[in-house]
Amino acid sequence: LQQQLIESEKLSTLGRFGAGLAHEIRNPLTSIIGLTQLLKENNHQNKYLEIITDELERMESLVNQFVLLGKPNDIHKAGCDINKLIYNTVELMKSNAQLQDVKIHFIPSQEEINLEIDQAKIKQVLINFIKNAFEAMPEGGNIYIQAKGEGINEKVTITIEDEGVGMTQEEIDSLGTPFFTSKENGLGMGLPICFDIVKAHDGEITVESEKGKGTVMQLQL
Ligand code: ADP
Ligand code: MG
Repeated sequence: LQQQLIESEKLSTLGRFGAGLAHEIRNPLTSIIGLTQLLKENNHQNKYLEIITDELERMESLVNQFVLLGKPNDIHKAGCDINKLIYNTVELMKSNAQLQDVKIHFIPSQEEINLEIDQAKIKQVLINFIKNAFEAMPEGGNIYIQAKGEGINEKVTITIEDEGVGMTQEEIDSLGTPFFTSKENGLGMGLPICFDIVKAHDGEITVESEKGKGTVMQLQL
């Protein structure tokens, strides 16, 4: 499970970088393919050109796949039971929590909340928030997660509260900036991806934090 979490974070980072890189590679690739096609038309016997074109086309389709894989804004929405989603995510994190002396307490909303969301992507957001909460409590502690609905299947507010190291105002202001990290082995890519995903849902992330006290991350959808 630990590995699964690490992999999911790596994948999203890879996806973001990969999508950018793939995009940059795609344009020159497309023009090279066009040029070899022109050369081939004037040069029917050249079997090397045939191979070059085939290989370039293979590269092009790989790059196209990568562009699709990494798009945080490529959202596929479907109806989702929010409490169930949070519950499943918490279950996924529990063995990690135990290892780190962290207890996760989840209070579901009283009424069932169904929203149209990209379940896999919002799960990724929740995992990132919970992971950051773990990492803010190296000596262990509690994480309180709560879901509150508004209207009938209209809106949900999910709060994730930790008792960790907290942040200064300056750190709070830097949240979501790519590569901002206060951790030795941090990537600073988790929250930027979360912000992208939530923005693509027309949602909102708010942060309340005090140095040495803890942090409350709030996700509105
Ligand atoms: P990373 O976890 O790799 O550092 P993130 O984008 O997930 O990257 O987070 C960026 C930074 O935001 C963290 O390094 C940390 O300084 C701060 N941060 C995020 N969540 C919390 C939290 N729950 N408590 C304290 N600091 C946090
Ligand atoms: Mg993180």
